[in-house]
Amino acid sequence: MAIARVLFPLPLPEPFDYAVAEDMVVEPGSYVRAPLGKLERVGVVWDVVDDPNGRGGNLKPVLEVYPTPPMGADMRQFVEFAAKYTVTPPGHILGMSLRSRGGLSPSPTERAYRLTGERPAKMTPARERVIAALTEIGEGLGPEIAAAAQVSSGVIKGLVEAGAIAPIDRPIDLPFPVPANTPAELDLTAEQAEAADALRQAVMAGTFAPYLLDGVTGSGKTEVYFEAIAAALERDDRCQVLVLLPEIALTQAIWSRFRDRFGAAPAAWHSGLSEKERRRTWREVAHGRARIVLGARSALFLPYRKLGLIIIDEEHDGSFKQEDGVTYHARDLGVMRAKLADATIVMASATPALETTVNAQQGRYAMLKLSARPGAATLPDIQIVDMREHPPEKGQWLSPVLREALTETLIEGQQSLLFLNRRGYAPLVLCRACGQKLQSPGTESWMTEHRYTGMLVCHLTGFTMRKPDACPHCGAVNTLMGVGPGVERIAEEVRALLPEAKIEIFSSDTAQTGEDTRAIVERMAEGQTDIMVGTQIVAKGHNFPRLTLVGVVDADSGMKGGDLRAGERTFQLLSQVAGRAGRAEHPGRALIQTYQPDNPAMMALAMGDRDGFLAIEQAVRNEMGMPPFGRLAAVVLSAPSAELVDLFANEVAKAAPNGTGIEIFGPAPAPIAIVRGRHRRRFLVKSPRDVDLSAYMAAWQSKLKVPNAARLSVDIEPYSFL
Ligand code: ADP
Repeated sequence: MAIARVLFPLPLPEPFDYAVAEDMVVEPGSYVRAPLGKLERVGVVWDVVDDPNGRGGNLKPVLEVYPTPPMGADMRQFVEFAAKYTVTPPGHILGMSLRSRGGLSPSPTERAYRLTGERPAKMTPARERVIAALTEIGEGLGPEIAAAAQVSSGVIKGLVEAGAIAPIDRPIDLPFPVPANTPAELDLTAEQAEAADALRQAVMAGTFAPYLLDGVTGSGKTEVYFEAIAAALERDDRCQVLVLLPEIALTQAIWSRFRDRFGAAPAAWHSGLSEKERRRTWREVAHGRARIVLGARSALFLPYRKLGLIIIDEEHDGSFKQEDGVTYHARDLGVMRAKLADATIVMASATPALETTVNAQQGRYAMLKLSARPGAATLPDIQIVDMREHPPEKGQWLSPVLREALTETLIEGQQSLLFLNRRGYAPLVLCRACGQKLQSPGTESWMTEHRYTGMLVCHLTGFTMRKPDACPHCGAVNTLMGVGPGVERIAEEVRALLPEAKIEIFSSDTAQTGEDTRAIVERMAEGQTDIMVGTQIVAKGHNFPRLTLVGVVDADSGMKGGDLRAGERTFQLLSQVAGRAGRAEHPGRALIQTYQPDNPAMMALAMGDRDGFLAIEQAVRNEMGMPPFGRLAAVVLSAPSAELVDLFANEVAKAAPNGTGIEIFGPAPAPIAIVRGRHRRRFLVKSPRDVDLSAYMAAWQSKLKVPNAARLSVDIEPYSFL
């Protein structure tokens, strides 16, 4: 007999032992069902060991082995690595991989009917219509046939009994169509061809090879990585490709491009999938039949059988960092996933993250550069508007310079985009009588006013309420007023300036469904919209050929707070937004409103000097020993009262192990010190680059007992400093 060591998708430290019946075939990686406590659970066999002493006799048995190919050794190593790196139990990581139980079993079936070729002895007009309908559609579900032939289900039943049609049980989840390489009808430029060749060779070699594909927006990065995907499809007929994009960049346009190029849509993985779509993708990936997966960050954890290539498009994007539950960065873990799978990984961006740039400079990643936009398209002209010199009128947010540009653009029949990364009407609601600002209950965060819905919303916790008539603090009536602008208010200002313009607001409030988004994007792309006012949702993946003016309403908003990456992120976001202008025949311009025109990020934007900006950022971070030159980790504690959290924070501080070069800052109240009634404290831990900070954090955590009401979370390489 053998013993199977089974890992469950639960926060348990280790796999558990189970007896394996003689006639059961399990191997490392097998997906199994086994009893755990009072329940039966799905887990993965981590190891199979011999049982010479018959100890297995006392163990509970493995109940079932699923007909899914075992999880590969590379994936199991990845689960272990990711667990160590993020300081989480391996079962938590496994849980992120086992996101669809339905995918473990073969597809459920549905009953369809098709013709047998026999004619029924008795023919009626209704029966004729059914036979005619089935002759046309081949096979169909009962209700489909009944509707097509306009008959009742009794007629179908009668035909089955007469032997003229036969039921078949067919799978509901169909395999994905096999992609094929249908080369684009464009000639790659010399630098594109060079980059594509390098990637092709790397993919064909089948060894770990990380690349940074650095090229301005519109330089054809997508065309280049399509060549790498084509190579992976050619290499062997099982090689799989994962393409990760930020969720909001998974637009219709990118799916169409894949369909055009590879003759079939890729398998999808993102938060908007139905359970049925989820189980289909999971099953097809695990069986190695889904060849191209296009998804958001969590697609990294799918159990690919043979991963040959990973593409991380927009690799600098902050949304690759998951902040809830297991905190991880899909780019950083992606590199390790590629390494363990002997795969090529391509990180593509027009504004690479400093971390990635430094890795490329130091030779850890190979660098591929695309410096030009093919064809006539040119980069937009970027102009900084110094708001101290060109202040807006009272109660307005657009400077005279931007107002004039908007008017000109409308007269010329071109489109404009105003960018402000704030949803709603006003980010703050204040009582004119008592001066109090409205806060979300039990949370140190302001309520945002949304005029369209008449609601006040806390963007941190999602708490929503009707805007009250009276101030909740002093009771004065009609004294609540919104302070500062959100996209709705900017749209109002534009409407007053240009009443004849067609204005559209594009934010997660107006685009709640894929259908809304498609409609908004289509109206803009087809020129029905004159002026779009949008949040960061506009920054990615959309191509608006007639957009010639981009106005950034408040370039300084992302710079506030003590965030390490504020300057870098502002630069990336604004470059991306500005890059929306003038993609096609029309030259574009971007006007950037700022009160800090001397800020290095603004100066670099104006001069188009990305590398100069990165060099300054790099020097500053190097000086301070900040990432990527040193390592950072954060610990966030929370508890229902300030006393409790402070007591616990003291315990945590005392338990910190000694470590060479390790510096601990805190405990300090987190910048948002109270969320949903929980008080929060924060430690920041800094170490030199050569220290295994994850191991240090794990050692620290193992010395702690977290009180029942308290919570502790560790974040390796934090991106959010709230
Ligand atoms: P990126 O991913 O760098 O933003 P894309 O790959 O999306 O760039 O290319 C931008 C546009 O330029 C696309 O419409 C693409 O089809 C086109 N394009 C890319 N390379 C070429 C080329 N060599 N010749 C003509 N058009 C090209």
